[in-house]
Amino acid sequence: MDGPSGTGKSTVSRRLARECGAAYLDTGAMYRAATLAVLRAGVAPDAPEAGPVAVAAELESGTDPSDPTIRLAGEDVGAEIRGPEVTRAVSAVSALPEVRAVMVARQRELIARADGIVVEGRDIGSVVVPEAPLKVYLTASDAVRAERRGKQDRRAGREVDAATVLADVRRRDRLDSTRKVSPLHAAPDALVLDTDDLSVDAVLDELLRLVRERGLVR
Ligand code: C5P
Repeated sequence: MDGPSGTGKSTVSRRLARECGAAYLDTGAMYRAATLAVLRAGVAPDAPEAGPVAVAAELESGTDPSDPTIRLAGEDVGAEIRGPEVTRAVSAVSALPEVRAVMVARQRELIARADGIVVEGRDIGSVVVPEAPLKVYLTASDAVRAERRGKQDRRAGREVDAATVLADVRRRDRLDSTRKVSPLHAAPDALVLDTDDLSVDAVLDELLRLVRERGLVR
């Protein structure tokens, strides 16, 4: 499951995994936790030390869709990695080739270990597992995505104003789509779903139909 932020990717991916009895991997959380390690080390995300610090971060990624914990040096950092400091810095850290190489290798290991898995990110169908039996790319207009992101932030107790969220969504889209290594784009064989006018339930129904049609659930 690939696509930019605010498309409902996380909600849909977790629910799909639960419905199918599959594991779940949030690769964005891995890049966010590595970015948190950089910030905690007092290193600027664009400083030369950022890559080595991110690569050395002791990450543990849970793959249970009901409790997808992410740990940094043993500490659950699930809430902190969604905060504004990490959100601002993550695109710079995730654009570093050495960081991507390490993350992609870890992701492939976790995927190989699972007996069925839903993986969400930006480059899953194009780079991490191009052989995946079902690739979905979720899109939505930037206004709709910013509105969804704003709601999510408010639910998590973070006060935000709409213009800032929209500017942040656009900035991250630009950075993620124009970076040299694994830029955000749909794999040529991905099914592209525009979610502007689709509820989470409608997207999930469509994905479950595809999963069954392709014989991916027992
Ligand atoms: O999905 P989420 O918003 O948590 O992702 C945070 C950031 O991590 C993205 O903006 C992107 O820079 C990076 N990312 C990535 N490749 C992935 C997943 C996330 O570069 N597979």
